[in-house]
Amino acid sequence: MPFCPQCGTRLQRVRRRTIDKLVSFLVPLNRYRCLSSGCIWEGNIRSGLRSRFVFLYWLLLVLAAMLVGRFITR
Ligand SMILES: [Zn+2]
Repeated sequence: MPFCPQCGTRLQRVRRRTIDKLVSFLVPLNRYRCLSSGCIWEGNIRSGLRSRFVFLYWLLLVLAAMLVGRFITR
């Protein structure tokens, strides 16, 4: 479990909003809320493992787009 960026307390995973799910197609996100009673921090944190695969996926997509672009301009 990650820790709160404001107070360092452990975070609890909460349900994502619709907009978070949409953003998750590009960047995998998990939504967290701070467990400390004195802190109201709530926000999105990128999920570690899958984001690397998504990064590679986008890298491949950009490379493919560049290759296709070359063929078209030729
Ligand atoms: Zn906190």
